[in-house]
Amino acid sequence: MPRYLSLVPFAAALRLDQRFTDELPGDPNPANSRRQVLGAAWSPVTPTPVAAPRLLAWAPDVAAQVGFSPADIHAPEFPQLLGGNLVLPGMRPYAACYGGHQFGHWAGQLGDGRAITLAEGIGTDGARWELQLKGAGPTPYSRTADGRAVLRSSLREFLCSEAMHALGVPTTRALALVATGEPVIRDILYRGDPQPEPGAITTRVAPSFLRFGNFEIHTARGDHALLERLADFTIARDFPHLAAAHPADATARRAAWFAEVCARTAVLMAHWMRVGFVHGVMNTDNLSVLGLTIDYGPYGWVEAFDPHFTPNTTDAGQRRYRFGQQPAVAQWNLVRLAEALLPLFPDDAPLADGLAAFDTRFQADHRRMSAAKVGLADAAPDRQEAVTRLVREGYALLYEAQGDVTLFFRALGELPVPLPAGDGALAALGDCWYDDIRRDQHADALRAWLAQWAALVAEHDARTGRTAEARRAAMHAVNPRYIPRNYLAQEAIQDAAQGDVTRLRTLQAVLARPYDDQPAHAHLAARRPAWADDVPGCSMLSCSS
Ligand code: AMP
Ligand code: MG
Repeated sequence: MPRYLSLVPFAAALRLDQRFTDELPGDPNPANSRRQVLGAAWSPVTPTPVAAPRLLAWAPDVAAQVGFSPADIHAPEFPQLLGGNLVLPGMRPYAACYGGHQFGHWAGQLGDGRAITLAEGIGTDGARWELQLKGAGPTPYSRTADGRAVLRSSLREFLCSEAMHALGVPTTRALALVATGEPVIRDILYRGDPQPEPGAITTRVAPSFLRFGNFEIHTARGDHALLERLADFTIARDFPHLAAAHPADATARRAAWFAEVCARTAVLMAHWMRVGFVHGVMNTDNLSVLGLTIDYGPYGWVEAFDPHFTPNTTDAGQRRYRFGQQPAVAQWNLVRLAEALLPLFPDDAPLADGLAAFDTRFQADHRRMSAAKVGLADAAPDRQEAVTRLVREGYALLYEAQGDVTLFFRALGELPVPLPAGDGALAALGDCWYDDIRRDQHADALRAWLAQWAALVAEHDARTGRTAEARRAAMHAVNPRYIPRNYLAQEAIQDAAQGDVTRLRTLQAVLARPYDDQPAHAHLAARRPAWADDVPGCSMLSCSS
């Protein structure tokens, strides 16, 4: 059992407000034994203490938002708390019950098998936070697994969720990464060769970690009363503006809520497509009802543009969760959520409306963000068709010529218009190609594409009076220079496993300003080096974590 201590520096500073456990039914069974949990939204469970928790990295702004001072972070109790060895007075740790559709099939009860929410509270900015330890030991939902997490997957989650936030993509945050000082046994490549690896815990922070699966599980069990309580609770706590807009009409309120979940998911998908993020495991238990990126597992980044790319070896055959399929999968998942919510409505019309809103919103945001990437977000109405075609042809060319999407769009923002004569424009794009032969084969098409782009930009800037500098700034604001490429995370993991967190902290600092040129760190923007092509963790990842 973790110790309960009140004499820690931050015990009184946190404003706890634990509505989830206060207002929703919990599991009456206090035992930490694996089981089906019926009639409850959560189970009480305390983290299992670890041998030697050590703070490897933290996010100062997340700490401040929750209410930890800089001194708290350096207090000896801080890693104890985030390692699960300490629970503060008033905290009521729990694991949430949820189910989910995994790879297209209903999987029954899943639940927080290794995530334990320590507490819920109100931040220094007035916003709600939930503090969740991932890898803090077994819970009633652990099934056959150990409740732990390895350093490599924890570091990847810490690094990427903070990078996504800085990229402007809705996401859960990461407060800290703590090494447990204990080994975890994993068979990384599922080859029957389990090995000990260093263990770690990521402390995640979000207003709520509720997933589609939290709702699906109760409907699957026919527990419509609990479904209704959970839905109305979620609206009241996490969507208070909807409660205010529809005070008397529960059906209208719930319809507006589902429509907002659809809209937020659509916005999230447009952002993932903008930055080239591939989640890798878009099961319904890994989609947030708040429209946040959640559960960073075998995620990856599209480098040489390829809509078929998936980083997840477990999905390599079917490629269900490939890059280009993500919006369609999100919609498929929303249909599963709609089915789960159907008992709350007199008929399915409001749910159909919400699903239609997903499509409209995704198309609009995707079009706008794609146009912004080429500097043409506010093209004249009679040019929008041409911009859409330009973007489509640009991606097709990047696919054919194996261009790195991130480097290409960033370099495009640097190009002067009119373009340099001869091959100057192509040369100025720099080293964003993975295959010189493919690039040369498509050089003519690339030149023609650049000429079309430059003509549209010139016309736009003449019409609106936009300066070259303003166009560059607008493009750089949506085309990042730095993304947490898998090979960079892998290098940081190797060092951290040896006790050296320098690379991790440098990457964290650089990725906190992904749209800024940081000349001292130019090498961290480079395309994936050839050595990384076939190294596990650099391009492909298994679900083992
Ligand atoms: P994921 O594929 O990571 O989204 O996890 C799917 C389900 O497996 C969730 O219910 C997780 O809590 C559970 N799970 C994954 N890894 C572990 C683990 N090491 N111990 C216990 N449960 C786990
Ligand atoms: Mg998950």
